[in-house]
Amino acid sequence: MVNVIVVAGAGVSGLTSALLLSRSKANKVTVVAKHMPGDYDIEYASPWAGANVLPMASEENSRWERRTWPELKRLTEEVPEAGIHFQKARVYRRIKDAEAPGYHLSDYLFSTDPWYKSVLPDFRELRKDEVIPGHDSGCEFTSVCINTVVYLSWLVGQCLKNGVVFKRAVLTDIRDAKSLSHTGQPANIIINATALGSLKLGGVEDTTMTPARAQIVLVRNEYHPMIATSGTDDSATEITYIMQRAAGGGTILGGTYDIGNWESAPDPNIALRIMKRAVEAAPGLTAGKGIEGLSVIRHGVGLRPWRKDGVRIEEEVLDGSTSIVHNYGHAGWGYQGSYGCAERVVELVNEIRKRKGEDLSGEGK
Ligand code: FAD
Repeated sequence: MVNVIVVAGAGVSGLTSALLLSRSKANKVTVVAKHMPGDYDIEYASPWAGANVLPMASEENSRWERRTWPELKRLTEEVPEAGIHFQKARVYRRIKDAEAPGYHLSDYLFSTDPWYKSVLPDFRELRKDEVIPGHDSGCEFTSVCINTVVYLSWLVGQCLKNGVVFKRAVLTDIRDAKSLSHTGQPANIIINATALGSLKLGGVEDTTMTPARAQIVLVRNEYHPMIATSGTDDSATEITYIMQRAAGGGTILGGTYDIGNWESAPDPNIALRIMKRAVEAAPGLTAGKGIEGLSVIRHGVGLRPWRKDGVRIEEEVLDGSTSIVHNYGHAGWGYQGSYGCAERVVELVNEIRKRKGEDLSGEGK
C-alpha cells in the first residue's frame, strides 16, 4: 500500500517531519511551501534561529526536547556536514526574575533544580565567582549550536536522498495540499507544519497563534561559552543571549521575546541595547573594546510561532476523509524539539495507516 503524504511547510518542523516519514518506503512524500531554505522572510522563522539547545519545557512536557537531544548529539559527533557543533552553555539567574509577577520566559530553563540536568552532559552549578555581575546564580552544561543555513539545506538534501519532492506553493486552505502531491494522486495524509501561517490558513485558522518577536544582531566576533540570562532591567520583553553558530555562521546576539508584536523592521534602540548587554555580559566578545569592537553582519527580526496552549501535534479529520496531522506552534524551541515532534508525527501517521488495514510490522519503530 502507498501513502500519499503532503507536508505543508519547509521550516525545521516540516523538513524533520518529511525526513522521518520518508524513511518508510511506503510513504510518498511531497513538501510544499511558500518559503524554502535559502529564503529570509518575516513569515519564515527557521533561518533566523540561533539555534541552540536550552531546554524550556516543564518536566511533564519535556518529551519533545528529551527525545531530540540524542539525535542532535549524534549528528554533532558523526555528521559534520549537518553544521552543528558542541558548545558549553552558561545560564545565569536573577532571583528578582523568578519572583517577578507574570514571569513567563523559559521559566524551566532557569530552574535551580532542572529536569534537564540528567539529560544534557556535564551539568554543574557555577561557583559564585563564575557568575557574571548582577546575577545571583548560574549553571553550565554541554549543548550544541546549529548553523541554520547549513542545517536546513542538509535536511533538504537528506529528504531528496529519500525521494522527497519539493514544490513551491502558497496555500490559501490546508485542503489545497491534497492535490499537490508529485505522484499525481490525491494526498490521503497532510502534515500541517505552517507555523504562524496556521493563523490565517483556511481549514486551520488557529486564532491562538501569534508571534513572539525576536530581534537579533548577527556578528562576526567569536565567543565561548553560549550565554543566556533570566531577565534584563531594560524591559520585560528584552532578554540576553549569545551563541556562536557552527561552521562560520557568525554569533547571534539576542534579543527580545515580545508576544503579539508583528514588527518586521529591526528597532535601532533595541539593537543598541542588545549589543550593550552582550558586551557587558561577555567583555571578551570584543576583547574589552565595547560595542565598537563588534563586527555586525546583519540586524534581523524573526517571528517565533507562539501558541497560547503550546505546540499542537494531533490528528484532525477534515471533511470526513482527509487526515491532517498538525505539527505547529513551537515558539522558541523548534530546533531543540524537532526530532521529538517529528517522531510523534510518524506515530500519528502510522496509527492512520494501521486503521486503514496496513501491516507495519516490517518497518521497525
Ligand atoms: P517556520 O520556520 O516559520 O516554517 C513555516 C513554513 O510554513 C515555511 O516554509 C512557510 O513558507 C510555510 N508556510 C506558512 N504558511 C504557508 C502557506 N499558507 N502556504 C504555503 N506555505 C506556508 N529554536 C530553538 O530550538 N533553539 C534556538 O536557539 C532558537 N533560537 C531562535 C532565535 C530566533 C531569533 C528565532 C526567530 C527563533 C528561534 N528559535 C529557536 C525558534 C525556532 O526558530 C522556531 O521554533 C522554528 O524555526 C519553527 O519552525 P517551523 O518549521 O515550525 O516554522
